[in-house]
Amino acid sequence: MISRVKAVVSQLVGGSGAADSSPQLEYCRPVFLQLSPEERERAADHSCRNIVSPGLGSSRRRLLLPWDTGYAEVINAGKSVFNEDQAAREIVWVERRNNRAAGEVVKGGENVDKERHGLEFHYWALFDGHAGTAAAVMAARLLHLHISEQLQDLVDILQDGEVPPPICLTSHGMGNGVHEGDWEPPTDSESRFLLEKEISHEHLIIGAIENAFRQMDQQIEREQKAHGTLGGCCALAVVYLLGKIYVANAGDSRAILIRNGEIIPLSNEFTPESERQRLQYLAYLQPDLLGNEFTHLEFPRRIQHREVGRRMLFRDYSMTGWAYKTIEEDDLKFPLVYGEGKKARVMATIGVTRGLGDHNLKVHCSNIHIKPFLSCIPEVKVYDVAKYEHGVDDVIVLGTDGLWDVISNREVADAVIRVLSSCDTDDPDRFTLAARDLVMRSRGILKGHGWRLSNDRLGSGDDISVFVIPLYGHT
Ligand code: MG
Repeated sequence: MISRVKAVVSQLVGGSGAADSSPQLEYCRPVFLQLSPEERERAADHSCRNIVSPGLGSSRRRLLLPWDTGYAEVINAGKSVFNEDQAAREIVWVERRNNRAAGEVVKGGENVDKERHGLEFHYWALFDGHAGTAAAVMAARLLHLHISEQLQDLVDILQDGEVPPPICLTSHGMGNGVHEGDWEPPTDSESRFLLEKEISHEHLIIGAIENAFRQMDQQIEREQKAHGTLGGCCALAVVYLLGKIYVANAGDSRAILIRNGEIIPLSNEFTPESERQRLQYLAYLQPDLLGNEFTHLEFPRRIQHREVGRRMLFRDYSMTGWAYKTIEEDDLKFPLVYGEGKKARVMATIGVTRGLGDHNLKVHCSNIHIKPFLSCIPEVKVYDVAKYEHGVDDVIVLGTDGLWDVISNREVADAVIRVLSSCDTDDPDRFTLAARDLVMRSRGILKGHGWRLSNDRLGSGDDISVFVIPLYGHT
């Protein structure tokens, strides 16, 4: 298994390998589901919307989803042919750079020689695709390998507890093209201009994850150029490394921690509303990105021609509140950020502002690119697991927006606690049962022609994917 994975890594993570990778990036469901062709067909039925999860009571499931991680998913109600969500669960062994091409993926039950100089991290991720499945499929298969690749520089530093040097030493000399013999320590007079910041290990890992997202985005760009694939995806990734959990979010998926019944948010959503000021500032600095069609200013509603010269409320990149201005001709252009809540859009086109892909995305019937406004860099939050005692019902819940659009954090936490407390604490299926329950609650039940929740509100018509990650006994 490892040699096969290494071959994939060297082809896909390395440089231009993406160009011929498309055959391996065809639509699929998560590997750990192990769906037969018949099961896959049933899972794709929009009319029934069967909830799919790994086999209960299966020892194979425990190997494919270590920590007894719970998972469930359901396809959308017909908005797209395929389920555009993807999921990944991996354990990755990272050796220092130059020991090998990239990280090895360790499957459950596989022994790793802990004497080898390296690090192991656990990884869970959800990808919510749009305008096609390719970006989410590619990210689900490869993002953890990019994280591994970025961590290779840190193996010695993190293992030995060293203070990170500003230039990375490797077994083949110093990084950035500098050779050991070329380098001399600064003289006393130089030293006062070369004060070094103290950089924590935690920030090195955050930087590695951020950079991995960037590398992943660039690889998707190469793929989209080479093969003309379209679309993008939101990405939510959790990395457990050296006693801490790193939650990286780029998009509108969400992670929460439930600890002793208390809810601790582990991510923020990135939408046109939450990132309005960043978007407006970019447009203010580079108005050419708006193609003379949009204004970076926001108004409470579209302005009519007859209102030019009147006073109207507005706000720009520097404002959280509103003020009046005299309307000019230029203000008649369409606002860069327009709409509210789930209907808010950037340039009337896209409802998320961070994620991977979308390199070809343009405003409808124009040559105006959206990508400059979309960031591939995640916000990374850190949870120091070792600082807390965790009970048997303490979990992290990851969900795509199909879950969170229709049920609140509190409803999710209450449902999880109810399911977990109804099962024996040594039942390995309890977290999968909790994940299934969340998907069922957010999908609802088919009544007439629509999906309805128990309170008769509309159920989610989106793809829904949920991980329930137990913390007790694993950290
Ligand atoms: Mg979604």
